[in-house]
Amino acid sequence: MIGKCHCGRIEFEVYQNPEQATRCGCSYCARTNWLTGYASVVQFKLNQGTEDLSVYYYGDDNNHHFFCRHCGINTHYFNDDTSPPHYGYNMGCIEELDSGPLSVVSRVNHHMEAKKVVDPAVKDRTI
Ligand SMILES: [Zn+2]
Ligand SMILES: [Zn+2]
Repeated sequence: MIGKCHCGRIEFEVYQNPEQATRCGCSYCARTNWLTGYASVVQFKLNQGTEDLSVYYYGDDNNHHFFCRHCGINTHYFNDDTSPPHYGYNMGCIEELDSGPLSVVSRVNHHMEAKKVVDPAVKDRTI
């Protein structure tokens, strides 16, 4: 499945169909209200747009939320605090994916606060 941001500069690919969607209850996702799909590091690939991504760090600094610096769409995150590390992608970016029939799991016990924001120019990790 191919996912794109709104302006199309960011394109990612997911190699496995999701079995469920997740609505995270953390302070960040409560604001974006996105439905997230999980992918392992081998199931997710950024096809294009590395130079067009900005990244926002929060919580314990292991969550890297990526968004398009042009259209502002939050396309995916990378979390290397889990074992193994994983990606989360914005299901709304995948036009061919109908998330309607998927069961939605709410993660209400996942409260991370924006304790620290790191300037992407100082700490720029794109994947
Ligand atoms: Zn964009
Ligand atoms: Zn979250």
